[in-house]
Amino acid sequence: MAHPVTLILGDGTGPELARATRRVLDATGVQFEWVEQEAGIDVFEKTGDPFPDTLIDTIKRTKTALKAPITTPVATGFRSVNVKLRKDLDLFVNLRPAKSYEGVRSRYENLDLVIFRENTDDVYVGIEFEQGKKDTQELISWLRAKQPLEKIPDDIGISIKPISQYKSERIVRAAFDYAVKHNRKKVTCVHKANIMKHTDGLFLNIARKIALEYPTIQFEDVIVDNMCMQLVQKPEVYDVLVLPNLYGDIVSDLCAGLVGGLGVAPGANIGKELAIFEAVHGSAPKYKGMNKVNPTAMILSGVMMLRHLNELEAADKLEKAVAQVIKENKNVTYDLKPKGQEESAVGTNEMADAVIAAYHKM
Ligand code: NAD
Repeated sequence: MAHPVTLILGDGTGPELARATRRVLDATGVQFEWVEQEAGIDVFEKTGDPFPDTLIDTIKRTKTALKAPITTPVATGFRSVNVKLRKDLDLFVNLRPAKSYEGVRSRYENLDLVIFRENTDDVYVGIEFEQGKKDTQELISWLRAKQPLEKIPDDIGISIKPISQYKSERIVRAAFDYAVKHNRKKVTCVHKANIMKHTDGLFLNIARKIALEYPTIQFEDVIVDNMCMQLVQKPEVYDVLVLPNLYGDIVSDLCAGLVGGLGVAPGANIGKELAIFEAVHGSAPKYKGMNKVNPTAMILSGVMMLRHLNELEAADKLEKAVAQVIKENKNVTYDLKPKGQEESAVGTNEMADAVIAAYHKM
């Protein structure tokens, strides 16, 4: 039976990446019932809404989606489609593997890290108070009354960082369950509980408590700034990381950098019943329509989707095909070519074709 999948075309380089990835996935022989949906700047320019009404219902129906990147303009009223999708569909796990592939330029070899970023809590909840506004001044007055010893200045903007027990428990449990299922050795909880005792402290205490239920998995905690240094110095000692939303966002990009950059970093947003698979990178709008950017991250997100759909054989074969194309370094995009050899790069579509050819030879 065909797997129903919503294909979210995104904007910028999104549509070209989505279509190339769809071709690759169709070439595996696995049957999909694709439902294409627009979202982002392109559809906003046509309809005035970056988030069509049909989007949520379609994903709820297909239960699985493959999403191309979507632009979020900085400092405008345009709310992030990405954040809204994760929130509205309660996709609480952001799973981001960071794995080395031979042929990708990197100072590190044989890395195989998995990041569990909490996706629905923390400063991303969007409770913010703008500097100079009446509400903000009232909040400042209230804070001054509650904390008379703190000097709270007048000229501040305020973002609220909610960390809840329930949401912390479910992400930590997801990380441990993954570790058990995939024979991982260690889970590291990353936090700043020394400073934020009632938010990160809560997250850490929950992680410590849940760790006791998983005696076969080693557990440790590391403060986030130290974690960044440790990851640059000796990433090979880490295995599964679990982090609140903001640190997870930052540290997972750092980990993508360790294995060769955004072009090869896939990801998934997973809830109880629904899942959206997407590359870690953004819409790279300066390359829009140029058939230039690397489809690997989105194809590897497709590999994660195949595993989610229990198409394990096709997933393993497709991952090997991608790895082979990267290793051969012939039919790859500009970012995977050695410095000075970028002119010999191929485009998005040609790299997708090479992956399809490698798949058929496996
Ligand atoms: P970006 O990832 O789009 O691009 C940064 C740079 O990385 C690019 O200029 C390009 O040099 C390189 N790059 C990115 N993807 C590549 C690929 N597939 N192949 C080769 N090179 C690649 O990050 P940005 O410029 O910070 O963000 C652009 C827009 O994307 C922003 O509006 C941002 O909010 C959005 N964004 C969306 C998502 C998402 O949809 N999940 C994620 C991150 C950023």
